[in-house]
Amino acid sequence: MKKGLRDFTLEELKDLMTKNQFKAFRAKQVFSWIHKGIESYDEMNNIPKDLKNFLEEYPLRNMTVYTHLVSKIDGTKKFLMKLNDGNIIECVLMKYKHGNTICVSSQVGCRMKCSFCASAVNGLERNLTAGEILGQIFTVENFTGEKISNIVLMGSGEPLDNFDEVLKFIKLVNDKEGRNISMRSITLSTCGVVDNIYKLMEEKLPITLAISLHSIDNKKRSELMPVNKAYNIETLLKAAKEYANYTKRRVTFEYALIEGVNDSKEDAKILASLLQNIHCHVNLIPINPVVENTFKSTKKEFVLNFEKELTKRGIKATIRRELGTDIDGACGQLRNKHL
Ligand code: SAH
Repeated sequence: MKKGLRDFTLEELKDLMTKNQFKAFRAKQVFSWIHKGIESYDEMNNIPKDLKNFLEEYPLRNMTVYTHLVSKIDGTKKFLMKLNDGNIIECVLMKYKHGNTICVSSQVGCRMKCSFCASAVNGLERNLTAGEILGQIFTVENFTGEKISNIVLMGSGEPLDNFDEVLKFIKLVNDKEGRNISMRSITLSTCGVVDNIYKLMEEKLPITLAISLHSIDNKKRSELMPVNKAYNIETLLKAAKEYANYTKRRVTFEYALIEGVNDSKEDAKILASLLQNIHCHVNLIPINPVVENTFKSTKKEFVLNFEKELTKRGIKATIRRELGTDIDGACGQLRNKHL
């Protein structure tokens, strides 16, 4: 696939300019246009015609809105985006008091095979490029007229299975010459690809790392999340602890409650003991329905009890308000096949 304009870092653009006899200072101007989210080269009104013509070799728009759905319950919007190669990805725009949050996909599909998740159903099609992750933000902003202030890498795909492009995306969206979105407003969620948690740690970015834990028992977790066979709970928690200590950032654990599977009082007690001494916070998510499986969500009252068991033992926990369930826009409901 041809590299798109949104895939260029400022450095790469400078390189492109000088190698093709354009002035280096043009790079900053072009970069700034790209990150305003423009969809046509004509909008670059301070760029000479010959440079615009040259840039047209590199696709600018890398997706279009294929359809969008609006939740009647909470106004959450889910977008199906068509990429230039015809693949479809999903992203979700959520409104909170503290601003608009976009949940972006990092891959077309996913190869992690978590049994409760719709994104895994058809396996991995391909990685997204940094520019395609960024494009989801621009396209949603252009379509809705809303400004996005927070980003969660919690759509389809495993961000740490697409490490280089995801890291490039984070740096691009944080670039002072571009959108300049604070790293503190970015959350990256992983199912637990431990080697790459350490790799990310070395970058020492002030983003929030979220870890999908979902079980305190290795046998059960391996059934729910095959990644546990490669990196078990002990290995994962050790990495989480080191990550929190090294980056001085609180780690979030996501725990989707499934009736009769991982939601007992005993589970909560063990979870609390495992997380002692880790600078962390737990997000409890009642599991969302996915047609391919029969998992049932834990009843409200038991979710509250689970939370109580954790907080009683000094573990901070919140019950996540699920947005967009009526449009299959909630956690684990995003997919890449729609027919
Ligand atoms: N691959 C990354 C990013 C996806 S984030 C990860 O696993 O963390 C999506 C979050 O939703 C993850 O915590 C995932 O485990 C969770 N999830 C998946 N299916 C779900 C479902 N049916 N109900 C609730 N949460 C689900």
